[in-house]
Amino acid sequence: MSKRVIVLGAAGSIGRQTLDVIRERAASDEKLELVGFSVHSNCETLRLLKHEFPHSRGAWTGEPSLAPEGASWAGPEALARLLSETEADIVVNGIAGAAGLSASILVLQRSMHLALANKESVVMGYRLLKKLADEQRCNIIPVDSEHAGLFQLTQRIGRAIVSELTITASGGPFRSLPIDQLSSVTPDDACKHPVWKMGRKISIDSATMANKGLELIEAARLFDMPQTRIRVLIHPQSYVHAMVRTLDGALYAQISKPDMRLPIHMALSWPKTTASPFGFADLAGKNLEFYEPQKERYPLLWIARQALDEGEAQCIVYNAANEVAVEHFEKGSIRFTQIASVVARTLERNWNLPVESFEDILHIDSMARTIAANNAERST
Ligand code: NDP
Ligand code: MG
Repeated sequence: MSKRVIVLGAAGSIGRQTLDVIRERAASDEKLELVGFSVHSNCETLRLLKHEFPHSRGAWTGEPSLAPEGASWAGPEALARLLSETEADIVVNGIAGAAGLSASILVLQRSMHLALANKESVVMGYRLLKKLADEQRCNIIPVDSEHAGLFQLTQRIGRAIVSELTITASGGPFRSLPIDQLSSVTPDDACKHPVWKMGRKISIDSATMANKGLELIEAARLFDMPQTRIRVLIHPQSYVHAMVRTLDGALYAQISKPDMRLPIHMALSWPKTTASPFGFADLAGKNLEFYEPQKERYPLLWIARQALDEGEAQCIVYNAANEVAVEHFEKGSIRFTQIASVVARTLERNWNLPVESFEDILHIDSMARTIAANNAERST
């Protein structure tokens, strides 16, 4: 029987690769059926998808007056209506940024399983999302490659005997650039990722390693592990995505080609393990390297560890301040190296606020954005 899938953020990097997985599995026993999707501003994708998948329904979440012909819903209620009026088995959340959190909430409220690429949802509100998922008897299946790897390893090994987690990082495009040149790199330089082809925001985050900072928080939340027991290693070949150490000291690795379609395929198959149409990693002749990241090059990784130690609100602030700082860097109003200083300065004030509801999260997020924007403007 085929699985019915809704793809949120269908025009983005995760969205497009999910559609590839759906196409590739069209003729297999594990068929996937696209029943719905959302786009925010990309008219062409909406038109093409309606043509290719005529039975699917498309929600336009952006400015309603710009909605193209063929959109089933448009405007602020479009996402909620897509999710409440379309029967599906699983939803892939490939929306970028903090906007993904409200989408994750809606998916779980509608009792659908959530294949979650949007890491901001986990960083900002995993405790509340997990509570909602448990109440609705839904699964949250990580799609982020490192966490998909950790998920597969911990499911197979058993969480109880795991003593340490490792996530890997490619090191981004400036891994070997002299540190004193970092302050003059441009947004386009930062988006030239050596391994992965991704959206612009996450590409810049890979260059600063804020992406790994977010992923550290994501791993701590998803696998309920203190940050002191989560390691980050630079691994430029990006074949090993995650490792798990068990109590007896053995280290187990999840290895696959650097291709996001693989973790998407795994998430859409889970709890089954099914044949992948995307080939497999061959280690013959491969030289795999691992080393510790340098604090001076990647301060945002250390700032994330500190935020995790301080509390939930600080993790929300870390994400919000970083998004604002990246926007300022994209506009050219701050330098690459000032992204970390804007985040650090925003975290300096007392953020010991309660995080008891999704409203609390959005309140902290919005306060942090205002303060980060002031900090960014003062840095110029
Ligand atoms: P992209 O920028 O490529 O795509 C994101 C999509 O989100 C866009 O297509 C956009 O729609 C949609 N979108 C943007 N803002 C909103 C909004 N306010 N409401 C609804 N939809 C919106 O990003 P990626 O695909 O790279 O990343 C998506 C998420 O997955 C991020 O959280 C990222 O961290 C995570 N991720 C990505 C990986 C990757 O390889 N790309 C790997 C692991 C995690 P439109 O184009 O129509 O405007
Ligand atoms: Mg990742």
